[in-house]
Amino acid sequence: MTLAEPAIMKCPQCGTMMLERRLRSGNTLGVRRWSDGKVKAPMHPKVTPIIKCPECSSYFLSCSSNEVANTNDVPDKESMPYTRHLSFDELIEAKPYVYDGNELLWFIELWHNYNDMLLDRNKWVSFPHMEFFIDNANEILSLDVFKEKGLAGIILEAELNRELGHFDKCIQLLKKHRTDNQYKLIIEQIIDAAQRQNDIVLELK
Ligand SMILES: [Zn+2]
Repeated sequence: MTLAEPAIMKCPQCGTMMLERRLRSGNTLGVRRWSDGKVKAPMHPKVTPIIKCPECSSYFLSCSSNEVANTNDVPDKESMPYTRHLSFDELIEAKPYVYDGNELLWFIELWHNYNDMLLDRNKWVSFPHMEFFIDNANEILSLDVFKEKGLAGIILEAELNRELGHFDKCIQLLKKHRTDNQYKLIIEQIIDAAQRQNDIVLELK
């Protein structure tokens, strides 16, 4: 794995510039995948789609419109801060800044962060966090945005239903796709967990 030259992102509110780590080539050895779509690869930088400005504390998306195109003109890159992974509380704060038009992108960040907390035995998930997650999970299901992503989106929608305890809905969404070549193994693992009324995110085999 090698790192590419970092991208320079610019806060649309105050103009502060920061560096974003970029990957040149990925080694997939040791990659771990979860049923909520999260993928972790050892030594890969965590590229974060939502950025918090360290200067004015506003939030913006990591996208080409917030990227400085000509990095040669930028002085003093050494002193720039790096973008970083956001906490659950920061994602709550970020919602009004980035949600409209990017509902699924924001929610998936929240979801992965929430499941990380659930799986981390050293962290305690508070009732307000749980309530915020469930309210937003129900909101995202009502928006019907998963279908834009084809079968991968349907699998995520089914998985979210399973994690919310809607086991019958999860199975109903997946059963007609059981023989899909690409996703067969993932679908079987999620259906199996739903049949056992297991609502915890799964590390996929
Ligand atoms: Zn700013």
